Amino acid sequence: MTPEELLDLVLSRTRDQNRWRLRETINLIASENVMSPLALKAYTSDFMHRYAEGKPFKRYYQGTRYIDELEVATSEYIAGALGAVGVELRATSGTIANAAVFRVLGGPGDKAVIAPVQAGAHVSHTKFGTLGALGIEQVDLPYDEENMNVDVDKAVKIIEEVKPKFAVLGGSVYLFPHPVREIAEAVHSVGGKLVYDAAHVFGLIYGGAWRNPLEHGADAMTASTHKTFPGPQGGLIAFTDKDLYKRVSKTIFPWFVSNHHLHRIPATAITAIEMTIYGKEYAENTVSNARALAEELAAQGFKVLGEHLGYTKSHQVLVDVREQGGGAKAAKLLEEANIIVNKNLLPWDPPSAVKDPSGLRLGVQEMTRFGMGRDEMKAIAEFMARVLIKGEDPGKVRREVAEFRSEFTKVHYALEGDVETILDMVH
Ligand SMILES: *Cc1c(COP(=O)(O)O)cnc(C)c1O
Repeated sequence: MTPEELLDLVLSRTRDQNRWRLRETINLIASENVMSPLALKAYTSDFMHRYAEGKPFKRYYQGTRYIDELEVATSEYIAGALGAVGVELRATSGTIANAAVFRVLGGPGDKAVIAPVQAGAHVSHTKFGTLGALGIEQVDLPYDEENMNVDVDKAVKIIEEVKPKFAVLGGSVYLFPHPVREIAEAVHSVGGKLVYDAAHVFGLIYGGAWRNPLEHGADAMTASTHKTFPGPQGGLIAFTDKDLYKRVSKTIFPWFVSNHHLHRIPATAITAIEMTIYGKEYAENTVSNARALAEELAAQGFKVLGEHLGYTKSHQVLVDVREQGGGAKAAKLLEEANIIVNKNLLPWDPPSAVKDPSGLRLGVQEMTRFGMGRDEMKAIAEFMARVLIKGEDPGKVRREVAEFRSEFTKVHYALEGDVETILDMVH
């Protein structure tokens, strides 16, 4: 490929991506979101070129006076909003946030108890991911099928038996809040700590639509700053345990980060400010849209999980699509109709079913941010039924989806702006 050809490809595919994913598709990936135009503007600054190793005001580099001030102010602002004694912003992702906390709490040969995969555990909580890389042994808590959650009574017994260094709750695929208080009490009684991984629900917590684990006994909360919290891709850790905060802040550099991608910090600050102003409305609308989508999908004839529990209390909906040919086929057909979802294991699937699991995981946070409400959830359920239940040509549905989506291109719950502004700033 010549340099001219590659340049052409970069320009055309970036433009295609922006048009397709910001204007023509219904995005239901539960871990994604869009920044506000103002946050995006704050993201593209000179900070993205710089280093600032070490802690604010104690860096190993010169030239850091402005990031030092911003990092401390942003950390204190978010700590105040969450009721934390401290917030560490240097984790460059949720996985790095987990690694930094897990490593301080345990090392090779130590044990950690985690919410089971059926209750939504992320790969970083398991022996296949970060926990395993750190040599920490994974012990699963038991799952209660009826409540679609951790089985509290059995979990307490296991914790008393195993005496883990720490427990991990929170996950990537869950509809209902995990039992933080009960597990915190049990793990504290054997001298361990509770880490709550809020990667997915951080924005809901910030907006008050999901219980704040720091108020229910968690010692640390790790998060991604780009899922329901609509900031730049990155991580953060909030603490109620001051000693743990100090230990993690002392070791995250140099153990897990050198450069912490400074331009995230002002964009995260803008997002936090916007969440202070609009977060409650956004979070409440997200959860009510998730429930509306679940109800409308069920009305269309889909098997939606959790009916007996009111379907969902998060931004997510889980659908059993075995009757529609399985998760892999359904997700691919929907993509052909410009509806972007991911296939997902459902509680009864063995891990080996990962390539063709029973279900789909849908998240409504991004479409909520683009201004959709109950009527649009109904329209989305109808589009999905046409493709997956009625067997209509996805190409035909795609044109209607693109037209439908073109009415929802302005980012709401934000200080200013629309997608045109975003595109202008990207180019
Ligand atoms: C997405 C996710 C992570 C990883 O976050 P990244 O920012 O992608 O590294 C960690 N934990 C949970 C529960 C997640 O869902």
